Amino acid sequence: MISRRTFLITSSALGVVCAFGGTALAQVPFEVRHTTAEWRKILSEDAYMVMRQGDTEPPGYSPLDQEKRAGIFSCAGCDLPLFKSETKYESNTGWPSFYRAIPGAVATKTDFKIGVPRKEYHCARCLGHQGHVFDDGPKPTGLRYCNNGLGLKFVSA
Ligand SMILES: [Zn+2]
Repeated sequence: MISRRTFLITSSALGVVCAFGGTALAQVPFEVRHTTAEWRKILSEDAYMVMRQGDTEPPGYSPLDQEKRAGIFSCAGCDLPLFKSETKYESNTGWPSFYRAIPGAVATKTDFKIGVPRKEYHCARCLGHQGHVFDDGPKPTGLRYCNNGLGLKFVSA
């Protein structure tokens, strides 16, 4: 018999295949959960404050803002691919910016942290905070996913 911990780690790594209506199969990310103590071991102090406490890094802080190579930007907390390099663009804000997230990779909620509503988004698998999405981005979506570099890992293609 496998332990619950082993089961959770295995499931997290592989994802879970779910059947919808018995007709279609879809790969649904298995939710990754850790205790606060575990997240503090997994993430740097700065990344912890962004991803688990909703902080925002200073503009220009992350070298990923200037990253121009082809590749994938994945969640720093659980490695789920969130953005493709071809959707990254120069927003001149000092934060890595994208016009489209990989479908299903992020989820949004409204936050009032600065007194006005903003659309927060986070990794759909570990729920780690990534940034805010605004409607002043370029075509074809008109969206600007303004992401903390601390929430991302870049893997070149
Ligand atoms: Zn994640």
